[in-house]
Amino acid sequence: MKILGNIDFLTEDNVNRSNIMLIARTIESDNISHAYMFCGNNMELLSKLALVFAASINCLDNGCGDCIICRNTKRGVYPNILIVEPEGNILRIEEIARLQKFMNLSSYNPGKKICVIKESELMNQEAANRLLKTLEDPPDDDSIFILLTEDISIILPTVVSRCLVYSWNFKFDEDTQRKADFEVMEKYLNEGIKNIIMLQENQIRASTASMDLTLRLVEILKKMEAGVKTDLEKEFIEIRKSDFEKSDVNKYIEILKSKHKRKINKFHNLGISRVFDIISAWLEDILVVKLGAGEKSLNFSKNYLFISKNIKNIKIEKIFKLMEVIEGNRSYLNYSINSELALDNIFLQFQNIYR
Ligand SMILES: [Zn+2]
Repeated sequence: MKILGNIDFLTEDNVNRSNIMLIARTIESDNISHAYMFCGNNMELLSKLALVFAASINCLDNGCGDCIICRNTKRGVYPNILIVEPEGNILRIEEIARLQKFMNLSSYNPGKKICVIKESELMNQEAANRLLKTLEDPPDDDSIFILLTEDISIILPTVVSRCLVYSWNFKFDEDTQRKADFEVMEKYLNEGIKNIIMLQENQIRASTASMDLTLRLVEILKKMEAGVKTDLEKEFIEIRKSDFEKSDVNKYIEILKSKHKRKINKFHNLGISRVFDIISAWLEDILVVKLGAGEKSLNFSKNYLFISKNIKNIKIEKIFKLMEVIEGNRSYLNYSINSELALDNIFLQFQNIYR
């Protein structure tokens, strides 16, 4: 059970530990049930977990992590594995039919045939009923189903009752994801500013570097925004499945949309605001190095050597001027004006720092 025990995206709590122990025991004693349901708050990580479980079932060494069976199963390309997922917002009966066809074939490779059903809460009634029949009467002893869901409460209770249910706690949460996004953004920004400074010290036009930087940052901001949008889609699905009157559903969706627009604006501004903070910190650091201060007085002390080596041609009054420009542009952020333009403007000004 080496790979199941070594998963780094699970929190180390009692629930996960006892889940892993139970699963390890069933694999080692070859006493595997034919239907499992994994729930948890992140579909991507649930899928990873299901594939690791599937790999451990078929691996000759109960989950070594390294053999061809483990490696290909984890990538989802082992012939004994079928992954089924919804198209758009519904998991339809056609997909369940595909699953049944796969399960009725004899397996290509030795071992169990394992079907992973992602977002199983999105099965419509028809599909759920069809799957239920298969769960009640599986084609043979070598068929295993792993249903995945982020919300077990909306799955047909008859389907749930046919499965061994395991709830998982992931380390992942929205905040960590957002923090990771910010880290990427900061990395690009620091590299970009260094590029602009170095290029100019060498008297080469820096406009390509600054344009490139703007585009990269805008791309990251858009990606972060898309993350916020995905949450909204999920909420819509929930509402549409409810028993409310159609007119009430529409009204509620409108409310959510406007709430979400505010959330995205806020988030977007937060992202750009962070970009501005970092540029300001760089300017302050350049300034104090120019004035002869030591490494310890810098915002980013690790940049001390770079700055003292590369900024001898920069005039102090240019730095003050640039700081003013940044504060001026910052006030525009409150009105959520095109962020691409704001960034472009800042980097354009940055290029003039030597002139
Ligand atoms: Zn293996």
